[in-house]
Amino acid sequence: MRLVTYKEKGSVQAERLGVLTDDGVLNLQEAARQAEVSPEPFVGILPFLWAGEASVEQARKLAMGRPASGAVPLSQVKLLPPVPRPGKIVAVGLNYRDHAMESGATQPPKYPILFAKFPNSITGPEDPIVMPVGDSQIDYEAELAVVIGKKGKTIPASKAFEYVAGYMPLNDVSARTWQFGDKQWVRGKSPDTFCPIGPYLTTRDDVRDPQTLRIRARVNGAVLQDSNTSKMIFGVRELVEFISASITLEPGDIIATGTPDGVGVFRKPQIFLKPGDTVEIEIEKLGTLRNPVIAGYGS
Ligand code: ZN
Repeated sequence: MRLVTYKEKGSVQAERLGVLTDDGVLNLQEAARQAEVSPEPFVGILPFLWAGEASVEQARKLAMGRPASGAVPLSQVKLLPPVPRPGKIVAVGLNYRDHAMESGATQPPKYPILFAKFPNSITGPEDPIVMPVGDSQIDYEAELAVVIGKKGKTIPASKAFEYVAGYMPLNDVSARTWQFGDKQWVRGKSPDTFCPIGPYLTTRDDVRDPQTLRIRARVNGAVLQDSNTSKMIFGVRELVEFISASITLEPGDIIATGTPDGVGVFRKPQIFLKPGDTVEIEIEKLGTLRNPVIAGYGS
């Protein structure tokens, strides 16, 4: 099931939670009302995920049992970030061997390297990445995002998937001068609009194995990253175990699982994003995230 957060174009309505179907987007709250079940869990993605597996099951039934007229054509909606306001975004550095090596590491990391992207960085699948004033070395990073579906701490790897709601493409946009300038990464990883996600959240039942997915980044159509999630050093299960050992994971939290080789800063010559570019992150089965790059105020 493909979950979307969206607004109908030209409407001032609040954002909605929907299911993307062949006919378009089904408004889950409306479908619940029509089916005479409680619309409460369908008010937004966070209440939906907090309501647990039962709400996912209910959404699936509503999407299957809908009348043909129930969906809004995709052309009439604006897709928003599937999780517009996650509690936290836990990101993982150097989690693909080829990328660790291109960055100059002599050994792959022994433990996952965690850092934060703050939720202000979240932006939608059709929205621009805004170049900040002060750093012109802006880079793309194609990543598999894991969205948490159940609250947990000290989750063993063997049970990790029970805590996963689903998966989506994520672009870990990075301001390299700031990132490497203070050696703490966060400043260069969290500017506004530096975490595009989407276009939809694919629920975990549709992704039997998240470690077999082709992952690519394109800038203006040129393929600059082309790898597979099988090449992660620490897989989704191990990351959930490692992170939850110290941090409670909650519904809607996002884990950015690291990027493969081919990022702009380590290419020869280097490639950085500039206003007018379009960046695409495509992951097999999970769709394509497509964001234009624009200049920020004052630049
Ligand atoms: Zn990254």
